[in-house]
Amino acid sequence: MQSETVLKIKTSFVAKYKGGYPLLIKEAILNRDVLKKEGMLLQIVDQQNQFIGRGYYGIQNKGFGWILTNKKEEKIDQQFFNKKLRSAINKRAAFFQSTDTTAFRVFNGEGDGIGGVTIDYFDGYYVIQWYSEGIYEFREEIIRAITDLTEYKGIYQKKRFAQKGQYIEEDDFVKGDRAEFPLLVKENGVQFAVYLNEGAMVGVFLDQRDVRLKIKENYSKGKTVLNTFSYTGAFSVFAALGGATKTTSVDVANRSLSKTIEQFSINEIDYEAQDIIVEDVFKYYKYANKKNLTFDLVILDPPSFARTKKTTFSAAKDYPDLLKESISITADDGVIVASTNSSAFDMKKFKSFIDRAFRESNSKYKILEEFSLPEDFRTIPQFKEGNYLKVVFIKKLGK
Ligand code: SAH
Repeated sequence: MQSETVLKIKTSFVAKYKGGYPLLIKEAILNRDVLKKEGMLLQIVDQQNQFIGRGYYGIQNKGFGWILTNKKEEKIDQQFFNKKLRSAINKRAAFFQSTDTTAFRVFNGEGDGIGGVTIDYFDGYYVIQWYSEGIYEFREEIIRAITDLTEYKGIYQKKRFAQKGQYIEEDDFVKGDRAEFPLLVKENGVQFAVYLNEGAMVGVFLDQRDVRLKIKENYSKGKTVLNTFSYTGAFSVFAALGGATKTTSVDVANRSLSKTIEQFSINEIDYEAQDIIVEDVFKYYKYANKKNLTFDLVILDPPSFARTKKTTFSAAKDYPDLLKESISITADDGVIVASTNSSAFDMKKFKSFIDRAFRESNSKYKILEEFSLPEDFRTIPQFKEGNYLKVVFIKKLGK
């Protein structure tokens, strides 16, 4: 293993890092000039050169790397990666044994002790996501840990960092056997068609598992359901299986039509009895308002940021307006499922958006339940930002 570079932390940040805060942030670092090549190993010390931890240099969003251990005697080597992965696998034992759910997160970055990398499981196939050039430097060790510790069928990877030069359409396959696509996986008995080799998104966002199940079990029977930003229609499929009278899925991406038809079909739902609309959500809302359409259940799960030809949506700025538009087409005593994966604001702020939107709509509401990340998306209390998912079930009270 390479030698360590000494990175000094400002006194005012020392307690935070000693307490297990894992992300190296700009404001905390005294000698940033020593950071030369991503992937270099760091020994983090205070201004008196006292040991705080060990980590690596990798640029990711607002961070400059991650601390991987606060134990002086612990080295960052193959054994370290194996130990972290083994512990993560043990914590998912129930998932590995399940025949009902065959897609889940095996390793969740800093929540499992190594910031910058996640590993998902799709019926024997593993998908690694690398969030910086720095963590990618440890690919041999991490891939080796997977091959040493699991009975994998195949391994795929996604590079989620900006690469130098032009983006080249890559093959994400790494090792083992190639899967045949669509690969059919299950979530609580419901099928998903996933494609592990078609860019960043594989067809399903695993972090919404608990919310999907809740919608199917408790909120769909006999209801009309509008699913906005619907992508492959995962929420619509669960709503339909939960007994919705009809689902309407709206997404601006052309691919969403065929992908949603596919998800319905593999679950033996007649897709022709459902509405699948390829359109900008904001344009659809105008149409729905003009036609006085209302829905019993409205699901909002927009990206944190998106730009279409006509509109730019930023969750931190525009969520209240999105809610207002949604309130106006939700039936009295209907439910809005408001979800966001934006780490730019927390649950408290999200609830203030909800409150504002209802007040400005002269409408009353009641919060029925709340969700954050499911248990396989492990987080640590020291890094609250890591628990990015916020989902609120809101009842629109009748007048
Ligand atoms: N809710 C989905 C995931 C959403 S991913 C699920 O549960 O699986 C974000 C989706 O929003 C993408 O499919 C993208 O095409 C869509 N999108 C982004 N901006 C949009 C807009 N203005 N109108 C409609 N869809 C939009």
